[in-house]
Order: sequence, then C-alpha cells, then structure tokens
Amino acid sequence: MHDFAVIGLGAIGSATAAELVRRGHSVVGFDRYTPPHTMGSAHSDTRMIRAAWYHGSPYVPLVRDSHRLWNDLERSSGRTLLRTTGALMMGPEDGRVFAGGPLRGVARVGTGDLVLSVEEVVERFPWLRPAPGTVTIYEPGAAVLSLEACLEAMLEAAGAADLRFDERATGWSASASGVRVRTERGEYAARRLAIAAGAWTPHLLPELSLSLEVERTVQYWFEPAGTHADTLAEGPAWVWELEREGTWYGFPPSARGLKAGMHFQAGRGTDVERVDRAVGAAETEGLRRLFGRYAPGVAGALAHASVCLYTNTPDQDFILDRHPDHPGVVLFAGGSGHAFKFAPVLGSLMADLLTDELPRHAPPIFSIARFG
Ligand SMILES: Cc1cc2nc3c(=O)[nH]c(=O)nc-3n(C[C@H](O)[C@H](O)[C@H](O)COP(=O)(O)OP(=O)(O)OC[C@H]3O[C@@H](n4cnc5c(N)ncnc54)[C@H](O)[C@@H]3O)c2cc1C
Repeated sequence: MHDFAVIGLGAIGSATAAELVRRGHSVVGFDRYTPPHTMGSAHSDTRMIRAAWYHGSPYVPLVRDSHRLWNDLERSSGRTLLRTTGALMMGPEDGRVFAGGPLRGVARVGTGDLVLSVEEVVERFPWLRPAPGTVTIYEPGAAVLSLEACLEAMLEAAGAADLRFDERATGWSASASGVRVRTERGEYAARRLAIAAGAWTPHLLPELSLSLEVERTVQYWFEPAGTHADTLAEGPAWVWELEREGTWYGFPPSARGLKAGMHFQAGRGTDVERVDRAVGAAETEGLRRLFGRYAPGVAGALAHASVCLYTNTPDQDFILDRHPDHPGVVLFAGGSGHAFKFAPVLGSLMADLLTDELPRHAPPIFSIARFG
C-alpha cells in the first residue's frame, strides 16, 4: 500500500506529489493525460506571478513563499522557470480592481511598487495608450513563469513516485483502513488521497456541491510588430481592467509570440466534456480591437490560439480542504484563473493536511465550509 494517492497531476497535483516525495513518502499518482497537455488549465506557455494584485489579502505571504519556492526549483532542476519582467495592474479608479477589489489602498502599502500616472505609463512604455483616468500600479519584481518547464520540473521532482499517465481515475472510496482508487486499468490502495482534478472536479466529486463554474477562455499569440517589437520582450506583463470590455491581460513575447487574452468572464459556464475547443475568427477580432485601441501596432499576424479552462469559485478564492465526510481525502479545486503561481505553496499545504503537519499558512479562506 502506498502512503498517498494523487488524482490529477496538473499544476497542483504535481506540486503535491513532489512535496510528498520530498518528505520521504511513497506516492502513486494518476493523470488522464500526459502532462503538460492542452485539455485542462495548465498549458499555453506562460503564467504571471505577481503580488500587487493581492495586497491586503492572505494571499500575499503565499505568493511571496511561492516565488521563493519557484526560485529553489529553478536551481534544483537546472531549468529556466521564471523571468522577472515586471507587471502592470491597470484600471479605472472606481473599477472592480481598484475601488472595491484587491488593490484598494495600495498606495498606503509601501512595497516599492510604483503608482504611475497615465503620462508616466506612456513615457516608460510608449506602446501603451491608457485612457484618461486609468490608475496603474507597476510591480517591477513580478515575473513570468514558463508553464510547461515548471510542470516538467515538478513532475521530475516527483520522479520517485509511481506516476501513471494516460490512466483516468474512474472512482475512489475511503474507509477507516485507507483509500482505494479505481482507474481504467486497475485498483490501488493508499493510506490517504489527494484530489486535484481541475476542471474535472465536478465529475469526480459529484456528492459535494462546490459551486464550481468551468469557464472557457482563449489565449492568443500574435507576431510582435511595429517599432517596439524588440523592447516588448523586456516587459512588463499587464492586467488591465477596461470599463466596457472586461479585464485584458498580455505577456511580453516568448518564442511563441505576444500572448494576450481576457481574464475571468464569469457567467460563461461550460462543462469540461463538451467545451468548444475551436477558436472563431470573430473572437480573435475582439482581441485585435483591444490592441488597436490600447496598444496600437504591436500585435501582428495571429500565430496561434488555444482554448484553456478556468474553474471558478463564486468568490474566486481557492478550495483547499479535507473532504467533509472523509478526513483522509484532501482536495484542491477552484483555481479561478490565478492558482498556477501558487502551485509549490499549495502543494505544500496539501501535503501538510495529508500528513497532519501543522500548515505553515492556515488557509481559512480556502475552506469548503464557506459554501454552507
Ligand atoms: C488562460 C489561462 C490563463 C491563466 N493565467 C494565470 C496566470 O497568469 N497566473 C496564475 O497564477 N494562474 C493562471 N491561470 C490559472 C492556472 O493555470 C490554474 O488555476 C491552474 O492550472 C489550476 O491547476 P489545477 O491543478 O487545479 O488544474 P490542472 O492544472 O488543469 O490539472 C488538473 C489535472 O487533473 C487531471 N485529471 C482530471 N480528472 C482526472 C481523472 N479522473 N483521473 C486522472 N486525472 C485527472 C487532468 O488531466 C489535469 O492534468 C490561468 C489559467 C488559464 C486557463
């Protein structure tokens, strides 16, 4: 019997398996595909890690610890995992982000992040065209994670585990003597179980009403163009709340191109089994219009587009907790479009709960009980 079983080896499951192995435990892990793959939430080149978005919330120590852990993994894996590019958080003063949201009161925090006027933004980043009244926080220490390399490094770190790819878990059961995981190929016993199944969570845990919404979202890569094409790669990344269009983000170009998309468009719920994975021309035109208006001339021909999935909770906080009826089962769900940056620290929290060690960060905001 293994000490622990892990269902789902995407961002959080691979981090959990790696941490359990690091602590000397025997682990069996399952993924229905071979990660990194393009069917869930962990694909598409890059992810941002930034703290400014979270000022005033319990996420700040988590993001700081996670940044340190990514640096450690970069050193131990010998891979390039992250690049400091800086990031901009932009939006109207009375918008969701600045007025009632994560950046309220940011000017008082004194973190070294800069509050930039519209003129200062244009002076530093001449390819941007913020509308009058746009508030900008510039976080110079923010970084871009190389997603696939990060995932491979975590799976390598979990290499001593029995990792079973292309083996879908079809069910599980828990009793006083441990857990059993049924897969397409067999049945496995372990003392305890971690479930980190991303957008498939509602299928694996139908008995829990977790209020999860699976959202289809598209990432686009454009050829960098215009006179600023070379400097774009230096950064920054941006997350920009626009008054009418929604929250737009973009990344400094990678080898794949200049990546951009829309963040968190709640109310567009779908199911992972029937999501439309084709990207229509009209969708791409919507993104092009944003570039035309707010960063004219920098987005050339469309190089690639890819559908990715958010799994949203109603409050956008994660779920990381014990199963209410089975304390030996610990689950992560509801990444809500921002969990990747936290993967090492969330894997560590999962391991704390599984091994009954005192969590370094008690995560009451992640409790299942908040859904009543
Ligand atoms: C477009 C986009 C942009 C994003 N940008 C950012 C960003 O900039 N910064 C950031 O921090 N986060 C970002 N995120 C969010 C982040 O990528 C996700 O929150 C994170 O990947 C969620 O991790 P997860 O482990 O829950 O799910 P996943 O990484 O999807 O992993 C779930 C795994 O479970 C497996 N699985 C499911 N069911 C079964 C089963 N029955 N048996 C075996 N295996 C199973 C799946 O195959 C999958 O590999 C973004 C997400 C998207 C879609």
